[in-house]
Amino acid sequence: MPTLRKEIAESLEQNSLSLREISQLFRIREREVLDHLQHIAKSAHPKKLSMEPAQCKRCGFIFKKRDRLSTPSRCPICKSESISPPRYQIID
Ligand SMILES: [Zn+2]
Repeated sequence: MPTLRKEIAESLEQNSLSLREISQLFRIREREVLDHLQHIAKSAHPKKLSMEPAQCKRCGFIFKKRDRLSTPSRCPICKSESISPPRYQIID
């Protein structure tokens, strides 16, 4: 496992982080963070990469059924683009 990915996984065991926070912390692009997260999700066993879903800041809609890891761009209910991003954490 690449060291960077391991470091990201270790951070996610300590804190819940959004894509942007991980990207800033490790100075990599959000697209790369997503790639690492997808691998971490598969390799975290017996722990689990959990995602606190994204939420619309305007109407409070929660993007519960979303399987993709990336941040949705707009709310399907009120069409607002002000979305608080999903947060990730590795849990036992
Ligand atoms: Zn909304």
